[in-house]
Order: sequence, then structure tokens, then C-alpha cells
Amino acid sequence: MKFIGAHVSVAGGVANAPLNAQKIGAKAFALFTKNQRQWSAKSLSKEDILAFKTNLEKTGILSKYVLPHDSYLINLGHPEAEKLEKSRSAFLDEMQRCEQLGLQLLNFHPGSHLGKISEKESLKKVAESINFVFSQTKNVMAVIENTAGQGNNIGFRFEHLAEIIVNVNDKSRVGVCLDTCHTFASGYDLRTEEACVKTFIEFEKIVGFEYLKAMHINDSKKELGSRVDRHESIGKGFIGLDAFKLLMNDSRFDNIPLILETPNSESWATEIQMLYGL
Ligand SMILES: [Zn+2]
Ligand SMILES: [Zn+2]
Repeated sequence: MKFIGAHVSVAGGVANAPLNAQKIGAKAFALFTKNQRQWSAKSLSKEDILAFKTNLEKTGILSKYVLPHDSYLINLGHPEAEKLEKSRSAFLDEMQRCEQLGLQLLNFHPGSHLGKISEKESLKKVAESINFVFSQTKNVMAVIENTAGQGNNIGFRFEHLAEIIVNVNDKSRVGVCLDTCHTFASGYDLRTEEACVKTFIEFEKIVGFEYLKAMHINDSKKELGSRVDRHESIGKGFIGLDAFKLLMNDSRFDNIPLILETPNSESWATEIQMLYGL
């Protein structure tokens, strides 16, 4: 079964996220548990936590289909010690928020080497960052998202994801979120059935579907291999509808959150319906 949703707003508090998801007919959703553009945030109050859990239960959406996304400021592969430290404590805070909300996944972008260290060194730091937060928390899984490879960002090759995983001590708590736009923009073709088959054989070989814990379902405004991260509505970009039809009919994408991050939130309800219809 497919569990499709979108990255919904938390305006007015995290407790509104499940309700916003329900409004668009979602069976899964993503959210920020704090302002994604600020370092510090107020702790979640007991009331916030209870209201979130109550609303989630009302909607019937299971916590395993909720995919919190961390702040954009965090760089777990940062080349400088002091800034890496700052990112690690912010990531720890994010993971503790997920625990408080009773959630199991935390989606994050690996980070950036900022042109100061090699990709390999930066990837190593990401794995060490994950090991650090795991030592301070119990259950939440770190879900590494592949990137478009814009600028100095790491995580745009399947090999990068594998390189992080290999250095994580507790492999039962690490997973991967494939973003279709990022996959395509980083150079993996998805435009035809043949191309999709090839791309996912590569993913299986290098990372393995056992690590696939979520997907971001986006079309791409930019061409194959552009390494530019610009999401487009489903079927309206360079990937095209065929890829999404294949995904919807492939059981390897069953029972994980499939999250839209497409630009027009007004059309999410329609897009979700459309995807189920494929
Ligand atoms: Zn994404
Ligand atoms: Zn993106």
C-alpha cells in the first residue's frame, strides 16, 4: 500500500500539522518541528506534545508515516570543529523533539564540505555526527536524504549515502530518503521505464532497498544532471509522469512515507489524488 502526503505547515504550532495533512487527503506527512531557518527554538511544551499526539490519533495517520525534516542550517559534515559542534547539538535537539512527539524518523540533508575538505572527509564527519546523536537518544532513525549536488553539497551520489551508512555504528537506526527531483538533478535518469529500472538497480546495488525508509516525490524544473535543486509539480517538469506511474506501481515503495514537496501547496490534494489514481 502507498502512503502519500506532503510537507505541511506548522503555522500556529506543531499540532496543526496532522490536521493540515488530513485536509489534503494525506496518509503521510512531513513537518518542521521548529523554525527551519533559525538555530534556536523554544522547547516543545507539554501542551504542544499532547495536542500533536491527540490530533495525530484523530487523523488515523500512523507515526511511522510522519517524516520530520531538520533545519536547513545544520551541516553535519562541516569542515570546522566549532561549527560542526553547533550543528551536532542542533541535530540532537531535533532528534529529541521527534522523540518527545512520539515520532520515529528524522529526515536530513547530509551537509556540505564548503570546498575546505574532501567529500570523503565530510561524509565521515556526517557518520560521526550520527553516531554522536545516537549515543544521546534511543529510537529515532536518522534518514539521510540524497541531494541534487548543488554547490558543495555532499550526498548526491548513491556511493555517498553508502559511505555514510558504512561508518554508522547502529545500522538499525539509519535509513535513506530518495528525493526524485534530487536523484534526477544529480544525474540519475528517471524519464522512462528503462531509465528508472537502471537507476533503481544502481540504488539496490550500492545502498540497498532495505535502507529506503522514505521518498520525496517531486518533479524537476531543471534538466538531468543539472545539479540544481528546483522542484516542480508532478508531471510538469523534466522527469514527467511515467516515472511517478512506475513508482506508484512498484511494491518496493510500499509502506513508507511518500512526501510531496512540490511548489504549489494549493494543488497538493489534487496531486495526491492523481498519484493514487496512477
Ligand atoms: Zn526533498
Ligand atoms: Zn530539493
